[in-house]
Amino acid sequence: MNVDDKATIAGRQCAITHKSDMFGKERFKVKFDDDGTGSGWLRGSEVDHFRTNSQASSSSPALPPEPATPTKPLPTINRRPSLCSDEEACFLRPSRSGPKKLTSCGSFWIGLIADIQYADRDDAQDYHGKQERHYRNALEITRNAVAIWNRSRVDIVVNLGDTIDGCNARLGQSQLAMATVLSVLDVCNVPRFDLIGNHELYNLGRADLCACNLRCFFKGRTYHSQQFGAHWSGIFLDAYDWSLLGVPENDLNYLEAEKIIRRHNPKVFTDGGDWTKDLPVELQKYVPFNGAISKTQLQWLEQELSTAESQKRRVLIFLHVPLYLPAAGPRTLVWNNDKVMKVLHGHRDTVVAVIAGHQHEGGYAKDPAGIHHVTMTSPMCAQLGTDCFAALQCQDNGTATFISYGRCCVETSTEGFGRSYSRLVLAKNAVNTPDGPAIDRPCPVTSI
Ligand SMILES: [Zn+2]
Repeated sequence: MNVDDKATIAGRQCAITHKSDMFGKERFKVKFDDDGTGSGWLRGSEVDHFRTNSQASSSSPALPPEPATPTKPLPTINRRPSLCSDEEACFLRPSRSGPKKLTSCGSFWIGLIADIQYADRDDAQDYHGKQERHYRNALEITRNAVAIWNRSRVDIVVNLGDTIDGCNARLGQSQLAMATVLSVLDVCNVPRFDLIGNHELYNLGRADLCACNLRCFFKGRTYHSQQFGAHWSGIFLDAYDWSLLGVPENDLNYLEAEKIIRRHNPKVFTDGGDWTKDLPVELQKYVPFNGAISKTQLQWLEQELSTAESQKRRVLIFLHVPLYLPAAGPRTLVWNNDKVMKVLHGHRDTVVAVIAGHQHEGGYAKDPAGIHHVTMTSPMCAQLGTDCFAALQCQDNGTATFISYGRCCVETSTEGFGRSYSRLVLAKNAVNTPDGPAIDRPCPVTSI
């Protein structure tokens, strides 16, 4: 897309300016010619559609493109043996006759994976040239995860969001890529909860998420509470309830998000480059790839935690974007993480852990209230030949054990190269230290 293309949107002439931000996401600024008051962002496929539409007829209102129908066969990827042997799997998971109901008694097992970010494209580096991204290998790791989860008979699976990479929108492959990953995850025949990540919203509007079979809607809401066995509950939060992504600009949730960003980091609306340059650390979370938990969702969270507390249940919180800086980084936090943490700390004996993704390098920390914060690393960034997922055992005594497959949890602020945690004991008084070795950084790429 060239700079300053002309197009017709809903019968109005406009100029479209190509912006590609530092995170590799293409953005298109649209400015209407007639009164100069309207502006907004579009996805690449939408812009292409509008341009085509303009050439065909400059007067007819343009509609968003139809979702692409998968026409080519799903990719076949050779299975490789998992790093975890059968013996280890048996050790980690006592054999049982089959998955149990969500409300039955006994130890409860959860399969976990975050930021698969699959795309059918060659490996690449991130914007800074620091992060190796293996888009196809992420799907292979997902296949391994499903095989392990099936073999060890997990009771549910939680996919923590960013199921496909944003580049699929540019490639016109959003629907196909999503169908590809979900077809792999569906092989695990247990209830699954899919969280909404920013990359879902780069590819699909909120209205389209349900149609692509993501399991992120519950009674019309995108946040949910679920009892796990007799002693545990899981609370799934929507970290993009207030967001600049995936909703039209006149959406009330967009307007709330816009207010927040204009107050704390207005250059987001004027600069397509580095939104956090020269910004104090505490303000760096105010970027479009994060979002906020709405007031309504916060009130609901408070109510759910009060109910769980009255029932003496332990609670695990799942959301795409981390809440606690020492377990992530300053640019990958929920905008109103302080408000969410305040609610959680009001139920500090009930909430055991917060499990998130989004920050590909991962991290772990325990906050002053004794709540564990686990940020899972991305399979897309895992070294080839290694795994990157987890199984979480919730025991009747209120302790949960996070078991890593590969380096799926690594010490914070090491860009993913630090020591890893082979397991984390998530209990009030537990102290966890990394026990896996750090790994070498790849040689820097030299430009010629
Ligand atoms: Zn994300």
